[in-house]
Amino acid sequence: MDFEKLKTHLAAHGVQKYRLTQIRKAVYEQGVRSWDQMSAVPAPLREELAPQFPMLSCKLAALRISKVSDARKALLEFKDGARIETVLLNAGSGWSVCVSSQVGCPVRCVFCATGKMGFKRNLSAIEIEEQVLFWLQHVRQEKLAQRISSVVFMGMGEPFMNYTEVVKAIGLISSHDGLGIGQRHISVSTSGFPRGIMKLASDLPQVNLALSLHTVDDLERSRLMPINRRFGLDDLKKALELYIKRTKREVFLEYAVMAGHNDSPAHARKLIEWVRSISGSYLLHVNLIPCNKVKGSQFEASTGDAERFAARLLPAGVKATVRKSLGHDIAAACGQLAAGSEGKR
Ligand code: SF4
Repeated sequence: MDFEKLKTHLAAHGVQKYRLTQIRKAVYEQGVRSWDQMSAVPAPLREELAPQFPMLSCKLAALRISKVSDARKALLEFKDGARIETVLLNAGSGWSVCVSSQVGCPVRCVFCATGKMGFKRNLSAIEIEEQVLFWLQHVRQEKLAQRISSVVFMGMGEPFMNYTEVVKAIGLISSHDGLGIGQRHISVSTSGFPRGIMKLASDLPQVNLALSLHTVDDLERSRLMPINRRFGLDDLKKALELYIKRTKREVFLEYAVMAGHNDSPAHARKLIEWVRSISGSYLLHVNLIPCNKVKGSQFEASTGDAERFAARLLPAGVKATVRKSLGHDIAAACGQLAAGSEGKR
């Protein structure tokens, strides 16, 4: 819901200020799904506002619930027919919402289902915030234990190609008047836009940064991630050094372990060298992600390979963690999101 518009509307119609507070509480604290559920607000006011200010501007087109892990995926459709996917995950420490920032993605990484969709449009800040609001309503409705404690920009799209709306969305998500999720619990993942990395350090130094790295060989990276032809590893290295100098924050390097592509001892050695060459490297942390299978892709999931790769990095002093892959059975894991036409399950 666009609360700025609602605020202006209520003021213009002489409605007492505390009504806005009541509406905010109902939406963000109670997670109500309709105006009818807002019992504290008088019925005539609710009836007047309901058609002009829908709770969500999108509707649920499909919902899938993982049978093997705490992961749920929703396909949401906006008024113009644009469809995006958003994911709710729980690795044990509370629910995390993975949001999309674009409809499709122009970056076209070869291992990613979203990249195969092409690019349709950017999402607005409100459309991004609504993904978290959708899951807040879902958590309440389904009476799920634990609350939503973090948000990650790792869904469809490259967040730094929609920078202004992403920054606004983070403002809405972290606002005390809104969802109230602290900026230290929000993470933005980029495929490698040096300018975005440097701007984030100045604009939102509390927000966590993740860089999808996947290899430190420029030729290989350009093959996997065409963005590397514009901004190579040296550009990323400079941006990371500046980010670390400004924020003194840890940066996560995402490394999807793809069997036979980037998991050899030589790849590990090169990664160790690259990490060590960065000023402030003690703040770099490699997240190893077992590669998730994408339909029609040559990249296979590789059991145990991520652990073997981690065992090469750790003795060299490079911090590395093997991430648990959640939601792969419902195509909700990293690299698997695409606004498909799956039916409601
Ligand atoms: S991995 Fe990220 S940046 Fe690359 S195509 Fe997929 S959504 Fe876009």
